[in-house]
Amino acid sequence: MFESEKMEIIKAGMSLDRYGLISLAGGNLSLRQPSGEILVTPSGMIYEDMKAEDVIVMNPDGTVIEGGRKPSSDTAAILYIFNHRPDVNAVIHTHQPYATAIGLIQDEFHADLTTLGNACGGNVSVAPYSSPGSEQMGIDTVQFLGDGHAVILAHHGVMTTGDSMKQALNAAVYLEECAKGYLAARAVGPIRHLTDAQIKQTVEIYKFVGQAHGEIPKELLGRV
Ligand code: 13P
Ligand code: ZN
Repeated sequence: MFESEKMEIIKAGMSLDRYGLISLAGGNLSLRQPSGEILVTPSGMIYEDMKAEDVIVMNPDGTVIEGGRKPSSDTAAILYIFNHRPDVNAVIHTHQPYATAIGLIQDEFHADLTTLGNACGGNVSVAPYSSPGSEQMGIDTVQFLGDGHAVILAHHGVMTTGDSMKQALNAAVYLEECAKGYLAARAVGPIRHLTDAQIKQTVEIYKFVGQAHGEIPKELLGRV
């Protein structure tokens, strides 16, 4: 059942490792099927060692349909997100160090780099601390996500979301890239901000980036 989707999850998990967003078995990934079932990674397994049959298939209420492994310890949070955000089909949780570091020092990561607007939909909020494994992580993600694709969980990590695994992965990888640049700049001087209008412009432009979309309308481009 859902073999190729399970492999998509495992491949994305290995990407998290490749991009330095998790170490060993940290974090987890989940993917909702059009028919409603939710695929969740097993708890505490290294992605490289994971096989399709290790990924758990469950109903939105958490009833396991297929898989002998214990599902992610964050399943309550994951299910809360899927059950409260019908537009979200993929959730990635990481402990990516740079974005997580921002959560130790401030309540918001302002989208002063265009890539953050592109990949995460604008500013990224930092949700107050709640323990790993708690449903509260999911409640906070829903509360702080807005129209965007990422929330930083204070003292813990990051949740990213997407209509696809690709979108959730993009949000996690590019959030980390931006966090690195931001912290490097912050270490040497005050940050110069993009305005709300400039952030909105990057978000709009990005809707036309990629093979599936048309050309960027000329009126969107330039200095605002
Ligand atoms: P799981 O391996 O149980 O998903 O836990 C990883 C994690 O990041 C907990 O927050
Ligand atoms: Zn975690």
